[in-house]
Amino acid sequence: MPDICLCLTAETMAQNNALFRQYRSCIDMVELRVDLLSDAEQATLRADPELAVREFHGVDSILTVRRKIDGGSWKRSEVERIALLEHMLPAGFTSIDVEADQVGLSDRLSLIASARAAGVTVIASRHYMEYVPTDLDSELQRLSAIGDYAKIAARPNGIADFRRLLHAARAHAGPHVVLGMGSYGVASRIMGHTFGNRFTFSSAADVQQAASGHISPDVLQTLYAHGETGSATRYFAVAGDPIAHSKSPEYHNRRFRADGLNALYVPFRVDDFDEFMELARELPLSGISVTVPHKESAARAAATVNEGVTATRACNTLIRQSDGSYRGVNTDIEGFLSAIRTRLSTFRGATVLGAGGAARAAVYALASEGVPVLVCNRTLSRAQTLVAELGEILRDEGQSTTLSAAALPGDGTDLGAYGDLIVQTSSVGMHPDHEGDPIPAYRFCGTETVYDIIYTPPMTPILKRAQQAGCAIVNGSGMFDAQADAQYRLFRTVLP
Ligand code: NAP
Repeated sequence: MPDICLCLTAETMAQNNALFRQYRSCIDMVELRVDLLSDAEQATLRADPELAVREFHGVDSILTVRRKIDGGSWKRSEVERIALLEHMLPAGFTSIDVEADQVGLSDRLSLIASARAAGVTVIASRHYMEYVPTDLDSELQRLSAIGDYAKIAARPNGIADFRRLLHAARAHAGPHVVLGMGSYGVASRIMGHTFGNRFTFSSAADVQQAASGHISPDVLQTLYAHGETGSATRYFAVAGDPIAHSKSPEYHNRRFRADGLNALYVPFRVDDFDEFMELARELPLSGISVTVPHKESAARAAATVNEGVTATRACNTLIRQSDGSYRGVNTDIEGFLSAIRTRLSTFRGATVLGAGGAARAAVYALASEGVPVLVCNRTLSRAQTLVAELGEILRDEGQSTTLSAAALPGDGTDLGAYGDLIVQTSSVGMHPDHEGDPIPAYRFCGTETVYDIIYTPPMTPILKRAQQAGCAIVNGSGMFDAQADAQYRLFRTVLP
């Protein structure tokens, strides 16, 4: 299992030592980023290099002075940087990070020779701050020939880049660390075992991150079960964009732990769902939660689907079958109804705002319960299509129902009986859109029940307005919990 390395990024050693003590119980290594120390603190260490490692008892320590082009803050010349590294090397560090790009490498080879002579492990590193290079395999080979560890940190700009990093890491036999920076790379920091990484870098919460996408050591250890995963671990994931706000990793990992299962649930920011499914088959992923904007793509990607997916054309759960294909299930329908089931009989009609995947689940659920539904969407034609398609499906199922479509209600709109329940299913108001209200001009009477299926934030602008007008309000937390519980029960079916 890869070790957790805490990057120390404070301006003073006193602050770094405090961070070390704070996270000591969940880390195996530290990396001292000397370039981030203040000028005064660097001068102090130059005078007494041993101060740099004095407090790091019982852990390995990496000496790093990062250049600006590699995401660091070193302000002076390259000659001074190498001289500082040479000067600090004997202080007691167990490893040194040496940038191993070709430009000026000859100047750094003597540093590498000094490190080797002193028994200090050399991490030969490359940083690609904006992209993932095409020649990963040969670059890893070259780095392995220079150092004891080959390290590549590169920024994926999509899930295809993430796959290339994974392929290169898996193909490289030598000791390595291959990490994806930024939001598309987060999973590489969690699934270190899958990448064959020897360690993973992390940053303390609430301090400057050493690189974008770092996760704090305590979150790696508790939420992502660092130290417990291995070759027998089954992987699950949530795929969406945006994904950072998702409560799903916390929900499912907590339940896996509570049930004592060797399973890990990982968030993936996904731009291209078909590419993600290639990755899912390669890893492989045993189960996948699918969220905005990929539910319709997931329905197409599934080899077989349940009736909820057929009806809504939206799939929020994929379960791996023994032949490697995926079965699609929609647990949003069940989840949606659970939050309002006890009040259903009081609604003469309902308005659903939005016509995406979640709207299809809400409309199908309400109509199946005999509630007439008016679907209002920014793009009217999409609402009309949804009404026509779901109407046909419900009629085929033998259900008599009233569905109609309209534009989003504005000032002066009287929804009549359709106003008993207003369901907000658009992505407007979802984190990070804290201002958004899909019907800013609509005036609530105060008699409506307003149900926003968004759960982050728990109080969206439309819910605030509705509450101020005296309406009953429901947020998406209950729906989230109920759909996640149904999903978890499906995940359990593919675990030994
Ligand atoms: P989706 O398929 O991408 O649909 C998005 C909908 O939002 C479309 O109807 C779109 O209208 C509308 N929209 C987007 N921007 C808009 C704007 N600026 N003004 C007006 N309408 C706008 O997404 P989805 O899968 O249906 O999910 C929608 C929301 O439901 C997300 O916030 C998601 O987190 C939430 N959700 C919650 C749960 C839960 O468990 N609580 C479960 C599922 C989904 P156009 O057709 O005009 O583009």
